[in-house]
Amino acid sequence: MTAQLIDGNALARTIRAEVTGRTQALKARGVHPHLSIILVGDDPASQVYTKHKVNDSNETGLSATLERYPADMSEADLLARVKALNVDPKVHGILVQLPLPRHMDSQKVIETISPEKDVDGFHIASAGALMTGAKGFWPCTPYGCMKMLESIGYSLRGKHAVVIGRSNIVGKPMAMMLLAQSATVTICHSATADLGAMTRQADVIVAAVGKRNVLTADMVKPGAVVIDVGMNRNDEGKLCGDVDFEGVREVAGWITPVPGGVGPMTRAMLLVNTLEAAERQSA
Ligand code: NAP
Repeated sequence: MTAQLIDGNALARTIRAEVTGRTQALKARGVHPHLSIILVGDDPASQVYTKHKVNDSNETGLSATLERYPADMSEADLLARVKALNVDPKVHGILVQLPLPRHMDSQKVIETISPEKDVDGFHIASAGALMTGAKGFWPCTPYGCMKMLESIGYSLRGKHAVVIGRSNIVGKPMAMMLLAQSATVTICHSATADLGAMTRQADVIVAAVGKRNVLTADMVKPGAVVIDVGMNRNDEGKLCGDVDFEGVREVAGWITPVPGGVGPMTRAMLLVNTLEAAERQSA
């Protein structure tokens, strides 16, 4: 068997086109969806990510501003700036790029963002909403993974999903989203005794670890859906995921590539959340 590819680039293009249409409709009502991004310090990867977020927003008709502050900015000043954005009616979404400099308490900064503007979905109120099924914002990466499953018409009801990784921004929210669709969910992590024994039972595997070749062909049930969240570098310095793509694609039924899989979907879902925030605030 050679797995069918779930093309994140193509699906992200479709989602961005939908965002463009909905944004135009909102603008026709006099609402101009706006995302405010804060970057503290000069981490090279964060500079690239925030630039993408601004460009993605502008390309779909949303507006975005990037505020840059020096690495020695005080936490009090950052909190004050977030609070000012919270009450600015022209700002619908607020994103503080992580990681923050070490002298800052990231969770405290995130908790200062108004839950109505928490488009990254990292606020404790967003986590609680996901847990209880209330309206909130879903973190962009697992939200994008769910959209990928939806795009292939995959019914999760009664299926066994194994999530590898338990971070607050990927693994845990991913598990909650799968559970909400009536999948039976197993969460694995670094202390899982026999990862392969778990994954071999899975109809769906989501790998969110950050290590190459965590999932190999012998660990996958024939026909399973494999979603690769990982972002690593191979020996040639090229971007690769957690999954041994060449091996696993011969066993799986569906597979996401890296690059061109979850990455572009994460970017697209930030646009969806920002638009959704503007729609809710103007309703
Ligand atoms: P993280 O916070 O470092 O979490 C990694 C998880 O993997 C932890 O739960 C850890 O277990 C588990 N783990 C480590 N080694 C393992 C092993 N050998 N077997 C099973 N589990 C193991 O990372 P993250 O922020 O969730 O990100 C995970 C990966 O996704 C990274 O490569 C990141 O770059 C990527 N990512 C991609 C996107 C995207 O848009 N494509 C977005 C976000 C993240 P413990 O909890 O026991 O330590």
